[in-house]
Amino acid sequence: MAGKLFVVATPIGNIKDITLRALETLKEVDLILCEDTRRTRPLLSHYGISNELLSYNEHNERERIPYVLEMLEQGHDVALVSDAGTPGISDPGYRLVREARLRDFEVVSIPGPSAIIAALSISGLPTDRFVFEGFLPRKKSRRLKRLEFLKKEDRTIIIYESVHRIERTLHEILEIMGDREVALCRELTKVHEEVKFGMLSEIIKKGFTKKGEFVIVLRGYDES
Ligand code: SAM
Repeated sequence: MAGKLFVVATPIGNIKDITLRALETLKEVDLILCEDTRRTRPLLSHYGISNELLSYNEHNERERIPYVLEMLEQGHDVALVSDAGTPGISDPGYRLVREARLRDFEVVSIPGPSAIIAALSISGLPTDRFVFEGFLPRKKSRRLKRLEFLKKEDRTIIIYESVHRIERTLHEILEIMGDREVALCRELTKVHEEVKFGMLSEIIKKGFTKKGEFVIVLRGYDES
């Protein structure tokens, strides 16, 4: 019988945010693929799991995929985790999942944290319809074009951003998409978790702590 590929969500900051099913799966599979063994090993050790780890990241995924498919073919169960949150969501995973599906292997979700849903659910902005933009393009011309495209998007918009670019990105959003309500979510589930809610121009003016990881939740375009 062929093995299964388990896509396992891990914490986005708080080590306790891992499901019982995730722990059970990580204990029982034959191999765990992780972005960085230095990030995943401490998590596993915390829960007394000493399973085999193999790196799977954007630099080596092309060479790893055939190996993993072979493992599945031979009947070994494999789990995929990323540094934080749900694999494949602004993290490696998509290519492997696709290749596994194309070959009819069973792919199983072990759901759990993702910064998108954590941020949206506490944002105070409409949650019934939303779009996820991931990280905006690095290149300025492409980034500005993307913001221009998003200007008339009427669903709530979720954007990931790093500390190095958060200030610049907020200024560009204000300039191109106009002033609107925003929930600026920082360090979710961690000790210094903070959410700034209000008009974008006010948040920029008042300032915020420029440390940690950010999710920007923006109100969609309102024609009225
Ligand atoms: N796979 C992850 C998920 O499911 O959310 C996302 C990984 S992506 C490489 C990292 C980005 O996610 C960060 O730059 C930040 O925008 C967002 N993020 C992850 N953890 C976060 C947290 N605890 N608080 C705020 N944002 C976070």
